[in-house]
Amino acid sequence: MKRELEIYIHIPFCAKKCDYCDFLSFPASEEIRERYVDALVKDIRRPDGCIPDLGEAREAAGREKSVVRTIFLGGGTPSLLRERQMERILDAVRQAFDVDEEAEITMEANPGTLDAGKLQACREMGINRLSMGLQSVSDGELKMLGRIHTYRDFLENYEEARRAGFDNINIDLMSALPGQTAKSWREGLEQAAALEPEHISAYSLMIEEHTPFYKRYGQDRLLLERGETPQYLPDEEEERQMYAITRECLAQAGYHRYEISNYAKEGRECRHNEGYWKRTNYLGFGLGASSLLGSCRFRQTEKLKAYLQTGGQPEEVTILSREDEMAETMFLGLRRMEGVSEGEFAGRFCVSMEEVYREPLGEMLQAGLLKKENGYIRLTGKGIDVSNYVMAQFLL
Ligand code: SF4
Repeated sequence: MKRELEIYIHIPFCAKKCDYCDFLSFPASEEIRERYVDALVKDIRRPDGCIPDLGEAREAAGREKSVVRTIFLGGGTPSLLRERQMERILDAVRQAFDVDEEAEITMEANPGTLDAGKLQACREMGINRLSMGLQSVSDGELKMLGRIHTYRDFLENYEEARRAGFDNINIDLMSALPGQTAKSWREGLEQAAALEPEHISAYSLMIEEHTPFYKRYGQDRLLLERGETPQYLPDEEEERQMYAITRECLAQAGYHRYEISNYAKEGRECRHNEGYWKRTNYLGFGLGASSLLGSCRFRQTEKLKAYLQTGGQPEEVTILSREDEMAETMFLGLRRMEGVSEGEFAGRFCVSMEEVYREPLGEMLQAGLLKKENGYIRLTGKGIDVSNYVMAQFLL
């Protein structure tokens, strides 16, 4: 039987850099975008060139051994590409890999880079899931974040996407914004949920170094880390309230939480991201894209000039030890509300979870941060609030 493979394709271009963003993304000319697509298509057609010749890596991504269950065009802003460019990329994937007819094919899209014609073309080329970066329903907040669109722009694109036949849409929202209150977050969330997207991702703002936001709010981040009261950002108590509101409000609107920050209507979980958390093999193409093939983890170069000249070159290649794989299984698996299956763990590593993690498991269960249910170890409500701490206990 063929093994499952996921494909991630990174499109690093954005119309403009948002003020809080530290992703690998930047504006670029039409000429650079075209050259990038040329390099990407070449890589996809000859994937071995960007896969290290190590362990089972190349074999795991081979057409004969694997079937592609999900494709994710992420960024950056993939929706900035022209229809013809998107088509070339997807055609190359279909020619080079065995793509399942029912594959989930997601494209990240930002309002202001879409129109009815492009959305129609995307649907026709087989893209069947749209992940829209809304972030906030407030135009004031969108402006403060440095986004290029208004809420109205988003609404127009959302309705156009529905008309084009997209019946699987995610909306990204951000909490813990400067000046945001628990009340305004609730109102925004309710407004977004009323549109009935199939999926909502709700992340809190992170103040990252080397961003304009760090200059503006870095001091606040420090205050928060020291447990003191920030000037612009919501304080710890307010952030906790926002988490609780997200859970409550989205449950009432018919979404179930299946991962720490992700909520879906029944059966509309993002299959691609589920694969990451379950450590399914995935192969990343494009600038800075990461891959996991068997026990081999690596990422492509982050240097645009080198990428345009020679295509992908695997960097930071790591062959994971059995201990690394066990630790990843735990801390990625615990992100999912279902948790980690004790049976699958034992089947994969030929040793029980209990035996490997007797001490941390005992402590976390005792402290009420984890629970054991129907053969799964999962976070409790209390554990979710301190999930980073809990996950860190499983690093061997
Ligand atoms: S659109 Fe997304 S990737 Fe692009 S700059 Fe803004 S936050 Fe970053």
